[in-house]
This record gives sequence, C-alpha cells and structure tokens, in this order.
Amino acid sequence: MSATQNTAQTPQMAHAAHNSVRGRLGPHIPSSVGGALAEDGRRQTLWLTESERGHHHARPRIGIMGGTFDPIHMGHLVAASEVEWKFDLDEVIFVPTGRPVFKLHQHVTDAEDRYLMTVIATSSNPRFTVSRVDIDRPGVTYTIDTLRDMHRLYPNCDLFFITGADAIAEIFEWKDADQMWDLAHFVAVTRPGYPSDLSKLKLPRGAVDMLEIPALAISSTDVRRRASHGEPVRYLVPEGVVEYINKHGLYRSHVSTDTEHVSS
Ligand code: NAP
Repeated sequence: MSATQNTAQTPQMAHAAHNSVRGRLGPHIPSSVGGALAEDGRRQTLWLTESERGHHHARPRIGIMGGTFDPIHMGHLVAASEVEWKFDLDEVIFVPTGRPVFKLHQHVTDAEDRYLMTVIATSSNPRFTVSRVDIDRPGVTYTIDTLRDMHRLYPNCDLFFITGADAIAEIFEWKDADQMWDLAHFVAVTRPGYPSDLSKLKLPRGAVDMLEIPALAISSTDVRRRASHGEPVRYLVPEGVVEYINKHGLYRSHVSTDTEHVSS
C-alpha cells in the first residue's frame, strides 16, 4: 500500500501525506527555472514542474477521482488512466464517498468495504492512490469539503476533480457549488451512447471538460445486479475485487441461498 493510501486528517498525518506526494513528485519540483519579466521590468524567477512526459506545468497536477465505487470497476480505472494521460497528471487519488448526499434513502455498501475494494483495485498502479478523507469525515459527503481537505493536504498543487458526467450534470444542486470552481478543474467522464449534455448548464467558461470513455459501458449498477443474481462479474471488476465480493458476500440480497457465490 502506498503512503498516500491512508490520507487522514490529523495535522501530523496530513503532513506525512503531503510529504509523501512531494516525495513522489520531488524530482519534478522544480525541474527548470526560467526568467520572466515582472510589471516593473525586473526579471523574476518562474519555477516550473516537469511531468514524467516532459511537459512543463506551473504546479504539480493531481487528479481527485470522486465516486461511491459500489463497487469500483474497470471502467473507473480506465477513466482515471485516460484522464491522467490527457491532462498529464502526476497522480490520481481515488476518494470513495462516505455518505453520498443523493443516496441517503437508498442502500449503499459499507464505506470500509468500498474503500478496501478501491485499494485492492488500484494497488498495482504506482500513480493511483486512495484517500479516506470522505469516509473519515463525519456526516454527509459534500465535494466542497473534499476539495478543501485536498487543498490542505496538497497545497501548491492544481487539482482536477474527475467524476461521472451524470453527477456533474447536477452540480448546481451541490453544496457551495459556486465556490468549487476556484478549487479544481472538473473532468466529466461519459459512457458511450449516453452523452451528457452539459451545454445547458451555465458553467464557468473552461471550468469543465468532458471525455467519453468506452470502457464506462461497465456500470456499478450492472455489476451489483449481476452479483445479486450470481452472474459472472470477472473482467468487469479486477480479480481481487471479485474475490472480495465473494468473500464478504456483497450484493447478494437477491440470491436465494447463502452458499451461492458470484460466478467468476
Ligand atoms: P452517482 O450518482 O452514483 O453516479 C452518477 C453517474 O456517474 C453514474 O453513472 C456513475 O456510474 C458515474 N460515476 C460516478 N462516479 C464516477 C467516476 N469516478 N468515474 C466514472 N463514472 C462515475 O454519483 P456518486 O458516485 O454518488 O457521486 C460522484 C461524485 O460526485 C462523488 O465524489 C460525490 O461526492 C460527488 N457528489 C457531490 C455532491 C455534493 O457535493 N452535494 C452531490 C452529488 C455527488 P457508476 O455507478 O458506474 O460509478
């Protein structure tokens, strides 16, 4: 497990988490020094960071992959990887929700199970980590709190909040929506065949990018439905997640016998 997988909120742990990212990003800070002219004509120093692909950015770039992840599936992983590539991110931090605000009256799998499945699913990718900030914060999960926590933990980094376009479509119903644009750039990922039309929303210019991810034909809803009927979910979710679902009997509410397992 990487050092940032247990991002916590105490000052000591926040400091450690921040240091761990600096440790990973360390070789890139700063990688080049350029000269720029200030308004008074004097030369001022401009620090740039260099990504692993050799591009220069003003600050390290971190993706914040927000979702309920009930369960995490291959579509989420492909989406995070695509956004990491397209936006030249240094790292993507998956942040499973604690109590999702729009799902207070529906069953959601225990946060610790969703967190552990997310850790298992991301463990082989050195650029993916998992944060507990949302599941450890008491009460309902609001993205404004996620972004504020992440800014505290990773100051001087540019944040890219990644989530499903259908969730972004309701962004004006989110708490303190008008304050979020300064905290992160938003990336809305869509499923093929379900293009989300965000053009009707009065989004600030350049605040949200959309990206179609063919692998998002997979959905958590379908994985849960399949698991509850004992249908195979192998290759829709990582192998370790199949095993976790089986071992803990998740999503089996409609399965007739206790001995029946999710086919893999
Ligand atoms: P959701 O309503 O369960 O999901 C809406 C759609 O987006 C579903 O099709 C879902 O597919 C997809 N999706 C969700 N997360 C995704 C991701 N990371 N990558 C790709 N597709 C994704 O949404 P949710 O999971 O509850 O919330 C998504 C994020 O928005 C969370 O971080 C949540 O905290 C935030 N949010 C904030 C507020 C607020 O601050 N008031 C309100 C709502 C949501 P799958 O089911 O296959 O994932």
